[in-house]
Amino acid sequence: MKYEKIRKQVIEAVFEAQEQGLIKGTSGNIAVRDDRDDVIAITPSGVPYKGMTEEDIAIVDLNGRWLEGRHRPSSEVPMHTAVYRARPDVRATVHTHAMFAVIMAMDEQRELRPVTLPHCEFTPVPVVPFSLPGSEEGAQMMVEALGAEGRAVLIRNHGMFCCGKNIRAAMEATEYTEEMAKTTYYARLLGTYKPLSEEEERAVKAFLAEHMTV
Ligand SMILES: [Zn+2]
Repeated sequence: MKYEKIRKQVIEAVFEAQEQGLIKGTSGNIAVRDDRDDVIAITPSGVPYKGMTEEDIAIVDLNGRWLEGRHRPSSEVPMHTAVYRARPDVRATVHTHAMFAVIMAMDEQRELRPVTLPHCEFTPVPVVPFSLPGSEEGAQMMVEALGAEGRAVLIRNHGMFCCGKNIRAAMEATEYTEEMAKTTYYARLLGTYKPLSEEEERAVKAFLAEHMTV
């Protein structure tokens, strides 16, 4: 099978995300870019994740043209391909409708701020306006919100979008963004919400840059 390695990485990430409750049913999508060719492997449209195999994963080029796979690619392909075209450093992308991300994304005015040290690798996490799935407008807003170095973005009344230099890094961004949304949610309920200050965030980012080899 062509592009077996990236198809396998997508499948493994799907099962991991499912196990962690980050994706359910057919919602969300995961993609990995090939090392040599300008193509990505991405989850198919409308196929339940349960029992999914490598053959079910679609292969599309960076303009979203469907090249391989027995099922049509996710309708949210344009958001992924636009990010790969804009950010050559990005090799994997994860989009989910995880519950706490959805809750926090309802407030377009408030970005997610880091609560604990690991969050600083992904912050700040902006919120982009709602758009229809698969729209060019939504894809463009995502590219702009991520900028040159962004790792995570919330989408109002929809979910989140995360990326990384490999599937591990993109999954970590997803897990920590959901954790950040969850801790922020509970702390706001308690009335004790106090994220790291911008100064603390800067210091942690410098510390992580020096000490992390992920
Ligand atoms: Zn979605």
